[in-house]
Amino acid sequence: MSESGEIILDYPAAQELVSTHGRGLPKPARKETVEIDQALGRCLARAVLADRDQPPFARSTRDGYALRAADLVNRRKSFRVIGQLRAGQPPFSRAIQPGEALEIMTGAPMPAGADAVLMVEHANATHTGTPDSPFEIFPHEERRLEAGENVVPAGSEAQKGAAILAAGTRLAPMHLGAAVACGAATLEVYARPRIAILATGDELVEPGEALLDFQIRNSNSYSLAAQIERAGAEPVRLPIARDSLVDLRQALERALEADLVVLSGGVSMGKFDYVEQVLTMFRAGFLFTGVRMQPGRPVVFGTLPQGTETKHFFGLPGNPVSTMVTCALFAAPLIRALGGETDPQPFFARARLTGEIHHKGGLTRFLPALLTAAWDSALVTPIAWQGSGVLVAVARANCFVVVPPDRKYLAAGDEVSVLLAYS
Ligand code: AMP
Ligand code: MG
Repeated sequence: MSESGEIILDYPAAQELVSTHGRGLPKPARKETVEIDQALGRCLARAVLADRDQPPFARSTRDGYALRAADLVNRRKSFRVIGQLRAGQPPFSRAIQPGEALEIMTGAPMPAGADAVLMVEHANATHTGTPDSPFEIFPHEERRLEAGENVVPAGSEAQKGAAILAAGTRLAPMHLGAAVACGAATLEVYARPRIAILATGDELVEPGEALLDFQIRNSNSYSLAAQIERAGAEPVRLPIARDSLVDLRQALERALEADLVVLSGGVSMGKFDYVEQVLTMFRAGFLFTGVRMQPGRPVVFGTLPQGTETKHFFGLPGNPVSTMVTCALFAAPLIRALGGETDPQPFFARARLTGEIHHKGGLTRFLPALLTAAWDSALVTPIAWQGSGVLVAVARANCFVVVPPDRKYLAAGDEVSVLLAYS
């Protein structure tokens, strides 16, 4: 710490420090069992194992004819279709012999003897058969099949007992699908951590209340609550704390009942910015008291001793955009780690700038921007704004362009990192 007690880090060092603390957290003690349809966004507490081989039987991936690939290599001109099998029917009763084929539908089990499926589009048939009336097919000239073509072997995705999803996975839609496919009906997840949100400021008024011209609506508690929910935790919005030592002390006392404390405002160096002073009274250990970034420079991160435990806290700057950016970068990943997620990081993507950016350098900037991603290109356009206090302009943004401290100029067409704001 410097003479003034300040610990100011470069942005990457601050991000790394938060990651390190996230990795050091114990897994949540409380677990609960939830139905699959209640599990989206929750964090797995127990690995999901395959209850049988995946797929459980060799199956056709096409509508067509199951046959012996060697027959086609040997240029056999016609096949006798000896039956039909649809998905959901028990396996065909006998093995396929040379010169024979089984009409097979996508998802049906492969019959013994056959090792490939000729797609229905690649053969002419004497007629569309029923299970009782045999017919002939004539593969198109020059159509060859490799053994295994259009067939997924049993157990090729996973063997029975293999871990499909690891504990510590934040459950996204594909995880829920995989879990059900592997036999899960319920999932064991970690209890969601409770995160106290403490907005500070004499000027703040809650939504729905009458306010005077010089007062400001407390928007931060609500944007933070939404970000915290997205991070898989339960937000606990506390009453606004006024800018006095007494009020802040009482509020912090209450906030410490939660698993993590997120404060907003009062961390700049103003005369009535008491937050750091009160944190010090609670014997806080400061890990950083500022980051060379904009917006968000006054962001504070540290620990508070609580009996035998230590809890983390964030003091986020009160400017609404700074609050959102510092929450997305620092608070959200730590909250996800508290919830049991393995090594969570903020969500970044790459995109091409549509215009140029001039920058004075020396700090990392996060410029509100609009990412328009088509399937083959991701373009990003910074949005005009008046500084970190203006949420209205930022409400038109969906990401933040990251401008590294050593880049004074970025040209149109340059590829940049963006911090995704929907996270
Ligand atoms: P501070 O970090 O307390 O110096 O606040 C910086 C700026 O953010 C001031 O203009 C505050 O009025 C504004 N601000 C602080 N807290 C909030 C909040 N909870 N909601 C909206 N604006 C806030
Ligand atoms: Mg303030």
